[in-house]
Parts: sequence; structure tokens; C-alpha cells
Amino acid sequence: MSRVGHSLETSVGELKGIGPARAEALAQRSIRSLRDLLFHFPRRYLTRLPPQAIGSLQAGARAAIEGRVSSVRARRQGRRAVVRVRVGDASGSIEVLFFNQYHLRHNFQRGELWFFQGRVGQRGEQLSLLAAFHERAAPAREAGPAPVRIPVYDLPEGFPPRLHRRLLAALLDGPHFEITDWRRSCGLPADGLEPLGQVVRAAHRPGSEAELSRVKRRLAYEEFFRILLPLERARAALRRRTKPRPTRLSPADRGRFEASLPFALTRAQTAALDRILAELAEPAPMHRLLHGDVGSGKTVVALLALAACVRAGHQAALLAPTEVLVRQHQQSAEPLLHALGVELAVLTGSTRAGPRREVLERLALGRPCVVIGTHALLTASVRIPNLALAVIDEQHRFGVSQRARLREKAGDVDLLVMTATPIPRSLAMTLYGDLDLSLLDELPPGRRPVRTERVASEELPALFDRIQAAALEGERIFIVCPLVQESRDSDLAAAVELARSLERRFGGRPLVALAHGRRKAEENREALEDFRAGRRPVLVATVVIEVGVDVPEATLMVVLDAERFGLAALHQLRGRVGRGSAISRCVLVGNGRTANAAARLDVLVQESSGFEIAERDLELRGAGELYGARQHGLLDFAHADLIRDLDLLARARDDARRVVASGRSAGLEACLPLPAGREPIDGAVAGPG
Ligand code: ADP
Ligand code: MG
Repeated sequence: MSRVGHSLETSVGELKGIGPARAEALAQRSIRSLRDLLFHFPRRYLTRLPPQAIGSLQAGARAAIEGRVSSVRARRQGRRAVVRVRVGDASGSIEVLFFNQYHLRHNFQRGELWFFQGRVGQRGEQLSLLAAFHERAAPAREAGPAPVRIPVYDLPEGFPPRLHRRLLAALLDGPHFEITDWRRSCGLPADGLEPLGQVVRAAHRPGSEAELSRVKRRLAYEEFFRILLPLERARAALRRRTKPRPTRLSPADRGRFEASLPFALTRAQTAALDRILAELAEPAPMHRLLHGDVGSGKTVVALLALAACVRAGHQAALLAPTEVLVRQHQQSAEPLLHALGVELAVLTGSTRAGPRREVLERLALGRPCVVIGTHALLTASVRIPNLALAVIDEQHRFGVSQRARLREKAGDVDLLVMTATPIPRSLAMTLYGDLDLSLLDELPPGRRPVRTERVASEELPALFDRIQAAALEGERIFIVCPLVQESRDSDLAAAVELARSLERRFGGRPLVALAHGRRKAEENREALEDFRAGRRPVLVATVVIEVGVDVPEATLMVVLDAERFGLAALHQLRGRVGRGSAISRCVLVGNGRTANAAARLDVLVQESSGFEIAERDLELRGAGELYGARQHGLLDFAHADLIRDLDLLARARDDARRVVASGRSAGLEACLPLPAGREPIDGAVAGPG
């Protein structure tokens, strides 16, 4: 380390103590240079507690102990491993547990004095300490107060924390490295953000709480910036491209389009359509998110844009996540497109061979038409050579990779994605950061909020009587269950059994239709038809009907075991009713087993705006849980918080946009702090050892 000539770019492999294997392990965490080592920030901070007597530990508490090791046992089973270290002091002894850190079994030697911090657990009479932090404690510890905040790093498995600590110390105490702040090099104003040079020092050696909170804010900002930068690059790159098939709709045609609708567009729909039609005419491809609450009328906006493309002589596609939804779009599109003289084709996984061949042929010939389909449209055999616009409905059901696949297949076409899952602004900015946004922030006139109540499952018999009476009065009722079929492992309501028992209970003429994901598309379609037409006014279903199903006559939505569903899903389900002029109701059946579950259901009882609900959901559940966001790997924030740090997110977005526009973004990633990585499992935290 003390060798002259080290720079920030020096490879970690040149440091004492780092051989090829350790260098490789560090590289797995993207740590290759000395800069990376400095820029590998703590994933979190522990507050150091003063050690207490082992005999005085209380189950459930966070505590620290200092004691001598008397034995070490380790066991591994598949991917799970536990290391048990027995530690004693004058007042007693306890087992310290490490999960999934098998390599630690050689770390502790009998007779050594160690400091441990963690949570005290209890099994039977036995207490144990689930270790979150450990450190060698020398009886003659160097003077000076122990640091109160302990940085916790995400190190490669088996990498000695002590070595990491030594390397860091050498870097921080050794010859001074000039750390340039990339924000400054990019010409961005400091504006109260802690400079990176200071952050490097203070993050590894936390000082005052005030300083630490400034450090954390900067690290949160960096986390946002890192995910937004590529999105802004993608946006900018897209704006520079030229699409082969721009679409222009004459004002006269537009007038004719709108006149063919049975209603007037809302102000929000008009604004979105203005924007979309303007972008269809521009040379650069559109890449836009149409974001609107359930029932805000996204479909008709999309249909007019699709029709405009066909009028211009192109092809246009509408992608929906389920067959049910495809059929429904077909039904609402048919009269409208017909009135405009626009041809329609439909393609799903269950389209029979004959008609399928016909549709494929028509499409491959480049015949101007709107095609509506499921992701079957994305398969290789489908060629749509004149495609000008692709609309993806219920985007959240598709996922980021399918959007990418579509772009790959279709090239520089206009892209409109729609989601009825209103997501908080912060999530929209991160998950859909590469898209421009149109918001439908009003519902068509005359809608009345759906009256929502929560009832306990003991009241089900009375509820079923109510349902029967309503059905005989000509109302349409949805009943949604979490499961398709009863299972031995679960007492959740299952659609198949419920449909059967309701039929028995109601007697007389059959009232119940059944739809779920394991039935054939054909059967579901029939069930939905029976329901829509009122032949069977009670539809028992699973969440196959969550998205999109539009039956204006439906007035009652009953959700069984409602706490099993996310708020967004419940809001979607509720959106299936209240589409006509009659007053509609939604009944959430659930006993609120936990306070949190009850609180979540109450959000729905109180709120009718999907956006409000989404914000509350984010507060109650955290971003990782929502919308599978964690699976996207986009929201693995160690320091950032999507609610608390919304201002930083907006700022990081603006900065990323500016940096990209100024052409200074190339290679910038190398100057950013490293991503902090995932939360480790259980107590698997490596502290300085
Ligand atoms: P979502 O945005 O949830 O996809 P839809 O597009 O399915 O909503 O529209 C919900 C219902 O509202 C449909 O029955 C549609 O015909 C109707 N609708 C759409 N726009 C209007 C409007 N401007 N005025 C009245 N009804 C409308
Ligand atoms: Mg819809």
C-alpha cells in the first residue's frame, strides 16, 4: 500500500493480501480498483451498543456482549448453514448464531475474546444471540471511544472483513487521493448535496449524526442517479431515431373519429390524444405511458390512435395480457373501427389453425389493419411488416423484458403502454423512467364512487342471501376467490367449490358462472358471455378478471379472503363495478388477522383514488413488495427511500437528463459509487472481524 505510484485506478490485485482469488471475489462485487474500494460504501449502519452481562440478556432485545469463545459448531444443509459459537463471561454463557455464513466456522478460536452484537432470540428456555456484527475484542484495546456507528459492508462470501477494514484504513489514512465529484465535473450545482470527497471519508468513518444523514442523502441520490442515467440515455437515443412510418391524422378525420363515439371524450382523454397524435406525426418514435386509474377510459384513446395509423395505411397492434381481455377489446373495438372503415384482426393462443393461418397471411402481406392479441403476437411466426404503432394494455402484467422484446421485434415503431395500476409517482419515475407520461386524471362523468365495506367471514351466509336476492333482481355480481381449487394446505376460498356450493344453495335456475385461469379460454369466454348477458348473473372467478373486464351492468364486487390480495389488485377488482349509472358496492371479506392487514383493507374503504391507494400501499408495504419491483432488480436501494426521498429522485432525474443532454454521460458509471447490493439473508452481515 505504501508503495509509491498508486492511483485511484490501481488494481486491487496489487494490494498486499489480495491474491488472484480474492481479486476475483472482489470483482464479483464490481470492486476492481482502489477507487472502487473507496466507492464501495456501507450498505447500512449499526448503532454500537455497550456490552452487557450475558446473564442479563432479555429475549427479543437488541444487545451486545463481550466474552470468550468456548466452542464452535457448524452445520450445513443444502444452501442453509448455521454456525454456533458458545461465548461466556462471568455471568453466564450463550450461543451466538450465524446463518448462511459457513465460512465463519474457522473465524473463532477457543479462548479468544470477541464482541458480538445482534438480537436475542429464544427457543424454549434457551436464549441465543442472532449476530449482526462481531469484532475481535482485545483486553488492552487501543484508547479512545469506540465508534458509535458501525458501517456494515456487503463483502464477497469468505472475504475477511478485517482485511477489508485494513485496506480501507490504509487508503483513508495513506497518501491523499483527490476524489473529484462527478457532479462537479459535469457542471451540476452543489445545491446542498454533500460532495463525494467528503462522503467517501464520512461514510466509512461516520462522525456526527448530522454528517451521517447528509452522507446517506447523497448515497440515496447516487442510487437513484445510477438507475435513471441509462433510462435517460435510452430516452435521448430514441429521440434521435427516425421511424419509418409516421402517422398523420387530418383534423376532419379526427372529428369523424370522435363523432363516432357514443360519448364525448373527457378533458384528460382529449389532452392525451392530442399529445399522442402529435407524436405519431413526429419523426422520432413515440415511447409513452398512458397512465390512468381504473375506468378512466384508456382503451378508447388507444383505439383512436390505432385507427389513425390504419387510416394512414399502416398496421397497428394492441397487446393484452389475457384472452378474456382480448375478446373484450375486440367487442368494444369492433363497432368503433367498423364505423371508421378500419379492418380488425384477432390473434390469441387459442385461435384455431385455419383462422390463424388466415390472420398471419393478412398481417404478413402488410394489409392495413388493427390486430388485437395476447403475447401470441410476439412469437416469431407472426410478421407485421407495416407495423407503425404497438399498444400494450395492462403493461404491469407483461414486464420489462416483454416490452424490450416487442421493441426488438418491431423496431422503431411508436409504442404506447397503458397501465391501470396507478403507481406512485416515484415508482413510475423509476420503473417507467424511459417513457414519457400521459395521465388520465379524471373519470368519465356520472361515475359514482363504489361504496366499499369490510365484513367478517362469519357474515358470509347473510352475504350470500343478499347476493341471491340481488341476482334475482337482475343485478350482476362478481365473487372473487384467491384460489382455483381447494387445497389441503390452505383454508382459502376456492372458486370451483364455491361455485358448486352456491349453485346448491341458490337452487332453482342456475345463476352462477365460473371463470378461472385453469379453464379453457373458450369456457371462460362463455362464462363471461353468460354473465354479461345476464343468463348467469353471478360470476365466481379468480383474479383472471382482475384486469380490464368491462361489464357496465355489474354492481356488486365481493372479494373473499381479501387480505390475500395487494391493494392495487383489490382496487383493480373494485374497478370492475361502478361502470354504469347505478350505485355499486364492493364487499371485502376478511377478518383482518393482523393489524396491518386490517389497515390495508381500510385504505380501500376510505379511498377511491387509485393514486392515493398506491401511495398508501407503498407506505404500508414498501417498494420491494409492490408490483414485483424487486424482481426487476431496479429498486434494491440500500439508502434511498421512495417516499422519503422523492425530492432526490426528481433531482436525480433532472440531473441525469441534463448530463445526457450535455453529452457528458459517456463512461460516467465508472465515477459513481458502486451499487450497494441486496439485503443479505437472515443475519448474514459481515462486520469487521
Ligand atoms: P380503463 O382505463 O380502466 O381501461 P376503459 O377504457 O375500459 O377503462 O373504460 C371504462 C368504461 O368507460 C368503458 O365502458 C368505456 O366505454 C367508458 N368510457 C370511456 N371514456 C368515456 C367517456 N369519455 N365518457 C363516458 N364513458 C366513457
Ligand atoms: Mg383497460
